[in-house]
Amino acid sequence: MVKKILQYPHPVLADKAKPVPDITDEVRELARDMAETMYVNDGLGLAAPQIGECCRLVVMDLTGPKERTGLQVLVNPVIIEREGRVVAEEGCLSVDGYRTEVARAEKVKVKALDLAGNEIVIEADGLTAVCIQHEVDHLDGLLFIDRISRLKRALFDKKVSKWQKRQKDED
Ligand SMILES: [Zn+2]
Repeated sequence: MVKKILQYPHPVLADKAKPVPDITDEVRELARDMAETMYVNDGLGLAAPQIGECCRLVVMDLTGPKERTGLQVLVNPVIIEREGRVVAEEGCLSVDGYRTEVARAEKVKVKALDLAGNEIVIEADGLTAVCIQHEVDHLDGLLFIDRISRLKRALFDKKVSKWQKRQKDED
């Protein structure tokens, strides 16, 4: 089922998510819902807190919503190694209409469980590495706008308060 994606500044997006204790049918269903929601919204990745479920679950598909051949589900992902630095433009389904450049590690090694409970280790670079770091940040209550310069952030916040004011005026 496609879920509603929470938008910044929803407070759940700033919470630290809890580990998934057991991979139950509910967890598998949540992962399915997250994948569906990600595809419908043309995303490459989605973290559970973005649909209001505060647990450490991430879905990613770097092949994109048209191909849908690379779905990866990460349960309790932990980044165990980071290397290098890369600056790339990012956006987020929870920060509608805003994209900007963010500095991240160039390569990461991540440990997680798959939906069968097997431990998986992924070594990633390029877009995959950026996506993993972006999604793991969501589990720690961080958004990509928390990683930009103070000046850029101040301009962004000004834009958000203008949107909110406009919405209020329309209501
Ligand atoms: Zn995001």
